[in-house]
Amino acid sequence: MSPTHIAILGGGLSGLSSAFHLARRFPGVPISLLEKTQRLGGWVHSERTQICDGAGNTASIVLEAGPRTLRPHGKSTLELINLLKLEHLLLTVPHTSLAARNRFLHIPGIHGLTMIPSSLPAILSSPLSRILVPAVISASLRTTPQLQAHEDLSVDQFLTIHFGVDFARTFGSALVHGIYAADSRQLSVRAAFPSLWDAAIDGKGSVVRGFIRKALRTKDAVDDELYQLDDVSSLMRNVSVYSFKEGMETITRAISRNLDSRSHIEIITGDAIRTIERSSTDAMFKLVTDSGRCLKASHVVSALPMSTLAKLAPSTSTPTLSPITKISRRPVSTVTVVNIVFPPTTFPIHPPGFGYLVPRPRDDASKEEIDDHAGVLGVVFDSCALPEQDLYPSPDSPRFTKVTMMLGGPHVFSHTAESVKPDRLLRILTRHLAPSHPLPDPVLIRAHHLTGCIPTPAVGHLQRVQELKAFLQESEMWQGRLEVVGAGVGGVSVPDCIEQGRHVGSSW
Ligand SMILES: Cc1cc2nc3c(=O)[nH]c(=O)nc-3n(C[C@H](O)[C@H](O)[C@H](O)COP(=O)(O)OP(=O)(O)OC[C@H]3O[C@@H](n4cnc5c(N)ncnc54)[C@H](O)[C@@H]3O)c2cc1C
Repeated sequence: MSPTHIAILGGGLSGLSSAFHLARRFPGVPISLLEKTQRLGGWVHSERTQICDGAGNTASIVLEAGPRTLRPHGKSTLELINLLKLEHLLLTVPHTSLAARNRFLHIPGIHGLTMIPSSLPAILSSPLSRILVPAVISASLRTTPQLQAHEDLSVDQFLTIHFGVDFARTFGSALVHGIYAADSRQLSVRAAFPSLWDAAIDGKGSVVRGFIRKALRTKDAVDDELYQLDDVSSLMRNVSVYSFKEGMETITRAISRNLDSRSHIEIITGDAIRTIERSSTDAMFKLVTDSGRCLKASHVVSALPMSTLAKLAPSTSTPTLSPITKISRRPVSTVTVVNIVFPPTTFPIHPPGFGYLVPRPRDDASKEEIDDHAGVLGVVFDSCALPEQDLYPSPDSPRFTKVTMMLGGPHVFSHTAESVKPDRLLRILTRHLAPSHPLPDPVLIRAHHLTGCIPTPAVGHLQRVQELKAFLQESEMWQGRLEVVGAGVGGVSVPDCIEQGRHVGSSW
């Protein structure tokens, strides 16, 4: 049955990308997109704001509550940039810049920041060589038992097997804090870092051999022609990360403007979907919202958080635990994002670089190490990576320093007004950054408490997603006419969410 009316539930990035691509795939077919809040974009949230300090310095700055930078290899995002004509709004960070080259760790209990070395000489002279050198030797020499296609491991288990315990805790946990705000002991390596898994398979148990083999192979001629990229790829040459002059919400605002201009698309905001049922009189689904609105749709796309979908989809269709419920029960991370802006100073607030991550403390960490850690996942040095986002009255106006702290995730951290008070945040940053002078009082602190914002693809996630897909195809209720997309099923990154929207409805 081909679609006669499509309902898209959830107006975050995945729902918007689905609407955009479905409108192209099924021109003229009515599409209704339903979003609970008044604003489209979900966790993608950028805001421009005016700041000034006591000395009369002013600036207009962009604050991000959600995603802030993207890597250029996500072709689905580049395609969207091309199709929505956003090239002139791009800001790129070249590989050669300090913001791309300098990344740090704050190791709980060790004063200040430790730079992550990015070359062999730097590894040998780094205080981290004690962990990195044995890890590289072990991974190069060791051949671990061949992994089975159906197996899965946590990121921590995988890295411990290949690179050793210290590497897994120091680098693995920090990386996972930075991307998933999750515990690397819960996260599935196959779902979160498929290239690592593939390298171990390809290298017959050796990740290093797998990566070498991949590098020696001629580049697969897959990608580029599958996407409408035009010149956008060339803009990404030598780019480490990128964003937009007005921040990441540029993408979701542009999609919603594009949807607004199409007469067959209806966007409903400020109304939440409450129930979905199969109509008893025809083959349509009946969707009822909180306000009592009733929609009929032949096909439905859920871009909702999985826990929301599990509550509104009928669970009677299977005697065992529904695959929707199963997926909805895995962990999700709650993160407190704090934007902090310091007034212009005569000394640097932090070293030049992208920012720092904080690894998991050791199992036998002292109280001092735990206090030092303070529930921080990482801090991004925003004004170093993307200075062009912030506008000043003149080229020589003194510059403010903008950083973003991420707290919570797997750490015990209770978000209260106390926990994000300036003196507490300054104490933490002073310990972590070890600045040459006392840090000045910030001119702005904006804290966002993001409940359940990043789902953790826990060990076994891919298997559960397969079960879900089979269930949606085969169950009498859905018969392949509900597709589930979003960070909860198909990858949490911005390009992953856009990619899912790109494929939705391809079997209808
Ligand atoms: C703090 C943070 C930083 C991040 N940083 C990066 C980054 O730097 N790079 C990167 O690639 N990715 C990053 N991500 C990940 C990425 O931003 C998200 O995974 C992605 O935005 C999720 O989009 P989504 O549409 O799947 O989900 P959501 O944004 O959660 O959208 C779901 C939508 O459904 C709506 N909804 C809920 N219930 C109902 C209902 N009953 N009826 C109707 N609507 C409903 C919600 O209001 C929401 O708008 C970050 C995420 C966070 C939280």
